[in-house]
Amino acid sequence: MERGVSLERAIELACEVPLARGTEPVSLDEARGRVLSSGLASKVDDPRFDNSAMDGFAVRAEDCVDSCTKLEIVGASQAGSANLPVVGKGQASRIMTGAPIPEGADAIVMVEDTSVVDNIVTIEGPARPGYIRRRAENLTEGEEALLAGAQLTPASIALAATMGYGEVEVVTQPRIAIISTGDELVPAGAVLEPGQIHESNSHALASLVESMGCKAVRVEAVEDSLDNLRNTLDSLADCDAIITSGGVSMGEWDLVRKLMEEEGEISFWRMKLRPGGPPLFGTWKNTPLFGLPGNPVSSLVVFHVLVAPWIAKSLGYHKEMGPRLSQQVSVRLAQDVSGAPGKLCLRRIRITSENGELIATTHTHQGSGNIHSMVAHNGLTLLPPDADGKAGDIIDALWCR
Ligand code: AMP
Ligand code: MG
Repeated sequence: MERGVSLERAIELACEVPLARGTEPVSLDEARGRVLSSGLASKVDDPRFDNSAMDGFAVRAEDCVDSCTKLEIVGASQAGSANLPVVGKGQASRIMTGAPIPEGADAIVMVEDTSVVDNIVTIEGPARPGYIRRRAENLTEGEEALLAGAQLTPASIALAATMGYGEVEVVTQPRIAIISTGDELVPAGAVLEPGQIHESNSHALASLVESMGCKAVRVEAVEDSLDNLRNTLDSLADCDAIITSGGVSMGEWDLVRKLMEEEGEISFWRMKLRPGGPPLFGTWKNTPLFGLPGNPVSSLVVFHVLVAPWIAKSLGYHKEMGPRLSQQVSVRLAQDVSGAPGKLCLRRIRITSENGELIATTHTHQGSGNIHSMVAHNGLTLLPPDADGKAGDIIDALWCR
């Protein structure tokens, strides 16, 4: 077991026990938010054939040099047409948006720039080759336009359909168990007896797990007893990973640490992080287990900086296009913020865009028990160990979703 590791080392050690990665096919109707397991190459050119960008007339540009040219209408090309007229000298074909360009035509005149009497059209505006959408100008058959590890958005689902896929292969969603520990915890909404508080961490953690493209299996808080905790962990043996909150500090009642020490395997305990110093990572009967701190802010920030990167790496998420909770940015501090001796300091900040730069301000008490600070702010400083931030400094930060 390593003690007091840096964040980088913690991620490295956790990634030695990755989440198992499976894949499964899903129809496009079920694909939103899922993550592609491999890149998708287009099965077709896009567009598939030269077609018109406008409703109007397909003409030969050389016929339309003079103003008010009159052309004979020889037919029509509609979207979906297979039988097309041939446009000869002095002729034109009606054409609809998306319809194939008839042989002989090389330009389009918008319908607004024409007038028709019987089967003669008078051309009153420009004949533009640019109104023809050329075959494969967007995508060439075989081109990989959707990348492995990308989360499927509405636009990417439409692109998959355009490229010829009715079904896509995606990463299977691992099941991650969420267990809170603490005698003081009662479910949100329940009446509080003296000394009790509403359990909140499991709701945040379940939601974070789902945001990272996994399935959360949230169970009611377990009391601080080794037997209860052991039974609960064993009852979740079919899950792919376990996240606990609470019970990992130095206290006598910190039973997650105790049980993992005695009956599990601990890879590391404690991180050089503030807030969020106490986490442990290891395995419970071969299942990866993160023991997060109980303080509500600590458990959330540790998920952001440690668990989310572990999930992303295990499942092969694309760095920019895969599911993620935050983006690293540079911000200018509007106020002094103090760092932490020997620890990476994750102060909560609100990031706003002002005059072309990102400005960071702080608004509430920064205590690790103050969950409101995670709502009043939308970012975290990445102040290196022993570094304070002065007003005006530009520092690294995470801009959280
Ligand atoms: P612990 O890590 O168990 O020592 O808990 C640290 C602090 O976080 C204590 O004030 C707990 O009451 C609080 N806490 C622990 N677990 C939760 C939870 N699931 N929801 C809300 N607060 C919690
Ligand atoms: Mg506790």
